[in-house]
This record gives sequence, C-alpha cells and structure tokens, in this order.
Amino acid sequence: MSIQETEVLVVGAGQAGIAMSEHLGAQGVPHLVVERDRIAERWRSWRWDSLVANGPAWHDRFPGLEFDVDPDGFAGKEDVADYLVAYAEKVDAPIRTGVEVRSVQKLHKRLGFRVETSDGVIDARYVVAATGAFQKPVLPSLVPDDAGLHQIHSSGYRNPRQLPEGAVLVVGAGSSGVQIADELRRSGRRTYLAVGPHDRPPRSYRGRDFCWWLGVLGKWDAAAPPRGAEHVTIAVSGAHGGHTVDFRDLAADGITLLGRAESFDDGVLSFAADLRANVENGDTNYLSMLDEADAYVTRNGLDLPEEPEARIIGPDPKCMTHPIRELDLAAAGITSVIWAVGFSFDYGWLKVDAFDDSGKPRHQRGVSTEPGIYFLGLPWQSRRGSSFIWGVWHDAKFIADQIAIQRSYLAHHTPALASH
Ligand SMILES: Cc1cc2nc3c(=O)[nH]c(=O)nc-3n(C[C@H](O)[C@H](O)[C@H](O)COP(=O)(O)OP(=O)(O)OC[C@H]3O[C@@H](n4cnc5c(N)ncnc54)[C@H](O)[C@@H]3O)c2cc1C
Repeated sequence: MSIQETEVLVVGAGQAGIAMSEHLGAQGVPHLVVERDRIAERWRSWRWDSLVANGPAWHDRFPGLEFDVDPDGFAGKEDVADYLVAYAEKVDAPIRTGVEVRSVQKLHKRLGFRVETSDGVIDARYVVAATGAFQKPVLPSLVPDDAGLHQIHSSGYRNPRQLPEGAVLVVGAGSSGVQIADELRRSGRRTYLAVGPHDRPPRSYRGRDFCWWLGVLGKWDAAAPPRGAEHVTIAVSGAHGGHTVDFRDLAADGITLLGRAESFDDGVLSFAADLRANVENGDTNYLSMLDEADAYVTRNGLDLPEEPEARIIGPDPKCMTHPIRELDLAAAGITSVIWAVGFSFDYGWLKVDAFDDSGKPRHQRGVSTEPGIYFLGLPWQSRRGSSFIWGVWHDAKFIADQIAIQRSYLAHHTPALASH
C-alpha cells in the first residue's frame, strides 16, 4: 500500500479550509487540503438561486481581497463561490478536489494520524477538520413521510417553480426561512411561516449597516452567546438591496405567521402559543441595538443622522392577536413544507477522542482534546463571528499559530520525533 505523507491535512475547501491554507502557508507549514466536491461547493449547490450574502461585500470577505461587486451591495451566492475560488488561487492553496476523507485515526505508537480517503491513504501529523457546522441538513420527523406533502430542507430549495402547486409552510424564521417565505409570497404563493425565538438586528441604522454596528459595539467578538440565547437564530436579509426583517411587515404583505411547530396528528399540525412572545422578544432585541448604537454615537460624539422612525413598531397583525394553534394542512391548501431549521455537524469520519457524549466537538478555540486534531468553522468557536466568512479567517490564524507552536516543540532537541 502506498502512503502519502503531509504535515497538516486540512479537510474541506470551503471558506474555513481556504483560510486555514493561507495561514499555514504564511507560516511555511507544509500542508494539503482535500475537498470531496468543488471548492466552496456549498455556496453553489446548497443554496437557493436568488440568495445573496447576508452582509455587505465590504464586510463579508477575507481581509486580503475585495469582492468584484459594489462594497455596500450584497454578493450573490455564485459571486461568493467565485470569490473563494479566486482567493484559493491567490494564496496558492494546495487543494485536491474530488477527494473524500473516509476516516481519520490515531497512528499506533506514532505521532500523527492515518487518513483513509477515496484517493488513497495519507499520514498526517496534524489534521484540521475544516468542514464546519453546516454539514447535515436537519430534517425533523414531525410530519411523517406518508402525509402526502412535499417536504424539503431549505438547502434543497432553489426557487418557487420547483414546488408543486399550492400553499407552502416554511418552518423556521432565521435568515433562510424568512427569505424563502418572502420569495414564495412574492411569487404569488399562499405562505405560512412558523416563527421561533430570533434576534432581528436593524439592516441599517443612522446610515450604518448592522455589520458595522456589531463590529464597533464589539458584538462580533463576543466569546459566548448571551445566557439562554444559545438557540436563538438571527433573522437578517440582504435580498432586494437589503432590508430589516420585520415580521409585522411580512404579515401585512400576506404571510400567515405561526408559533413553533410542535406536533402532527391526522393531517393537523399544532403550534406553540409562543408567536407573540417570539416576535416581541425579537422587537426587544432590535430596540436594544438601537439604544446601544445611540449610546455609542453620543459617547463618541459621532455625526450620524438621527433616525427616530426606526423605533416605530407597527400594529400587531391578526395572526399575532388571534394565533392559529392548529392547522389542517389539506384544508389550508398546503402541499409543501420547507424545513429551514438549520444544519448539524457530520464528523462520522473523525474517529478520535475529541467528542463529548452527545457527539459535539470537545475543544477550546478549535484546539481539540485529541492532541493534533483541530476544528474550524464551528459556531462560537472563539467568538460570534466564527462561523462567518470574516470570522473564520481569524480562527484559522489562531489554529495555524497553535500548530506552529506544537511543531516547534517537536523540533526542539528531539530529532527522533521531527520526522515520521
Ligand atoms: C443559507 C446560508 C447563508 C449563509 N450566508 C452567509 C453570509 O451571507 N455571510 C457569511 O459570512 N456566512 C454565511 N453563511 C454561513 C457560512 O459562511 C457558510 O455556511 C459557509 O459555507 C461555511 O463555510 P465552511 O468552510 O465552514 O463550511 P462549508 O462551506 O460547508 O465547507 C466545508 C467543505 O467540506 C467538505 N467536506 C465535508 N466533509 C468532507 C469529507 N469527509 N471529506 C472531504 N471534504 C469534506 C464539503 O464538501 C464542503 O465543501 C450562510 C450559511 C447558510 C446555510
């Protein structure tokens, strides 16, 4: 059996793997990136046709390259993929595409790991799992397969034309759910949207995008989510030039809002009595950000235009004052359900001691409990920005530093360890 060798094997060539390669290259660390599909594949084939980035092009990018679109505009999903491919070329990332990692195991009585791939065996002293948090679409089993409904995950949604005739229920009101529901409603579909707990920052306030506000207020750098808000999703949109997500506006436009989907029985879906609370908590989050922004302006004597109209909250729609708790899907004409409830990890190939009992990575800032194994692209890996394009770049820098530190220990007076 021929075995290839590399110092660091990076698994995955999305933004995380590319950033990792840049920083390893800058440190002169020999490495190889393997990707089972194409570079930045998720941005091409796991996103709907009309998706644009949630943040403006000046912000949602790596420091070393600007987008070829208006900096205040929102790059389309193909623009993002093209950008990442161009970036990989710019940093000369040694990426092998079409190679799937099937298992990573600790080498017996030797430093490093044996990596079985679809293209042979690779021994690596260090492995970075840069496959991130968006690997397995979460598809709840709430509504049975034989319920006669077309059920898909948001990652399988492309455009309204792909769905059978009829009304659509979108479950989940983070950035994906609200944008998909809005697109369906605009296409003339009767649309229902199940809304859970969420934050909804203003798209912009006093002339600055919310990405700017989160930056100057230090919120992208927050090390942990606020207590009790671990599962709160964020509802933002760059669609149609970017606008604040406002659930009352969505309802006024014709979308029927519902609480969290809870149970299904004989064609009837039941919803929690939490719609009003979820929307009002979102309002509180929204208003508190305006307060913090105002305080920042005052404290620093900035000359940013006042925007009192941003504080106007519209009247509650009927679907909030008289919430629907039970919906007979057939009677409502619903033929499709889109589950926009997120993704989970898929580390089935990583057979090392770096996971807790529930299968979650055990790590500190990406440095796992199995020496030599590193994670990248996890939500809140080191900060709020970690799973986003601009944040993962900084985490990759940290991981490259940790690998360089480990290499320097091994190189120090231990020639027997310095090579495989
Ligand atoms: C709908 C949606 C919109 C988003 N919009 C934004 C946005 O506007 N701005 C922003 O900053 N972030 C956004 N994100 C979040 C995040 O930036 C993206 O999810 C991004 O794709 C994550 O990059 P990644 O490199 O961590 O993971 P991925 O892009 O998922 O890349 C991981 C790669 O690993 C490969 N891989 C997995 N397992 C293996 C294996 N065993 N062997 C070999 N290869 C493997 C996969 O094929 C994949 O290409 C969005 C996320 C979603 C879901």
